[in-house]
Amino acid sequence: MDNFYCVKGNTWCIDTGATLMAVYRLNEHDIVMIDTGLAYGRPETKCIMHVLDGFQLNVKAIIATHGHLDHIGNNNILAGKYDCKIYMYGSEAYDCMSVESMRIQHTGVAYEEVKDALVKMTSRVDVFITPWEKKINILGADFEIVHTPGHSPSHISIITPDNVMMAGDALMSKDEIVKAKIPYACNFAVDFESKRKIAAMKCDKYIISHRGICDSESIADEVEANIEYLKSRAEIIHGYIEDGMCFDDIAAAVLTLMNIKVANRYYFFDLHGMVKPYVQYLEECGEIQAYYEKGYIRYKVL
Ligand SMILES: [Zn+2]
Repeated sequence: MDNFYCVKGNTWCIDTGATLMAVYRLNEHDIVMIDTGLAYGRPETKCIMHVLDGFQLNVKAIIATHGHLDHIGNNNILAGKYDCKIYMYGSEAYDCMSVESMRIQHTGVAYEEVKDALVKMTSRVDVFITPWEKKINILGADFEIVHTPGHSPSHISIITPDNVMMAGDALMSKDEIVKAKIPYACNFAVDFESKRKIAAMKCDKYIISHRGICDSESIADEVEANIEYLKSRAEIIHGYIEDGMCFDDIAAAVLTLMNIKVANRYYFFDLHGMVKPYVQYLEECGEIQAYYEKGYIRYKVL
């Protein structure tokens, strides 16, 4: 089966065509999954189930790198089928535990309009990884926890007992990142620090977003390519900003000039959330400056 292959030792991955999910084989049948992909539209669910059933694999635990729906989408489905434990860390563990907490975070759209989508963004959480845990032991196997915030507030990367890092969205492969018009990090300065921390880890293999595998020789190149691309996207946004624009004006310029299709109001606010960290980054770099004027925060190009 082409979509289930060995990365190193007992660390394998499921390749859904859209995403790689790390699998650590505790023995022939029992596994720990790191991330579970997207459940929307169900093609990833189908692919995962096909692999799990085909290899008679039994999911004993799931570790999530972070709480985004394309990484925890199948948690509840798998937990329901295998009665496995779900491990998550930090604010994201709490944020995606219930529809109510998702509702509190998604303030831009009326609840009725998004409640079905929010349900799909929730995950059961059985084990809350604590900030002081450097390793978690699951049925005799040690998984190292590396804190890699930036893409999301509580993002973690996981090193399997084979010294293979599952980096989640803390790092994207060079091929993938260039496909994104506005690749996301909730804070770029923190994200860059985490990427460089990953490059310094010296793992034997790295599974990176969304479909990349690299080794200790190429990881530094991947990291610097990521940072350069993100900086180049920030520069493009910088070029759209004119003196006196408020954030809504900047977001509108990004959406129209980058020709980004806005399918619905929920996606519109999602896109706003993606543009905001670029504006913050540009201000932190001293390229724009915010000021208050008659009820608005406006920006001046420096
Ligand atoms: Zn993500």
